[in-house]
Amino acid sequence: MDARNYFGFHYEESGAGLSHSVYRTGYEKIIMEQDIKYMKMALEEAKMAADQGEIPVGAVVVCQNRVIARTHNLTEMLTDVTAHAEMQAITSAANYLGGKYLDGCTLYVTLEPCPMCAGAIGWAQVSRLVYGACDEKRGYTKFAPNVLHPKATVTSGILAEECAELMKEFFKNRR
Ligand SMILES: [Zn+2]
Repeated sequence: MDARNYFGFHYEESGAGLSHSVYRTGYEKIIMEQDIKYMKMALEEAKMAADQGEIPVGAVVVCQNRVIARTHNLTEMLTDVTAHAEMQAITSAANYLGGKYLDGCTLYVTLEPCPMCAGAIGWAQVSRLVYGACDEKRGYTKFAPNVLHPKATVTSGILAEECAELMKEFFKNRR
């Protein structure tokens, strides 16, 4: 995986065991705390999705420390395979801002985006992508690693265990 985080290194993908030692400055620690805060919000969205029988993926868009969109997967409700959490979040954030580009925005999503969503994140020129769990089967880093905006930065593994656990539980209960 070649996802690169904001500071050029990966967070430890150990869920609650996020190692503080990888943070070299107070600033980086603040960024990490914010990432966890917004990822928790995305997780709440994912749980709402699960309650509605949707595959539990949640997304949040943050612009200048303000949450401008929070959404979850709606593919069942809308009977639309493109209604992934990220697609909803991009549309909602653009509506809120009144412009189609999301430069200066961070998109948080509980699961690594698929190639479709990563493409949309690229088209929207999202500046920063933060995702929780990796999706080894369907994630964009396997199929289209260069599809984001060239200047976009990526952080992966934030609350990865919780994000992955939600998916596992969902599919276990569905069987
Ligand atoms: Zn997607």
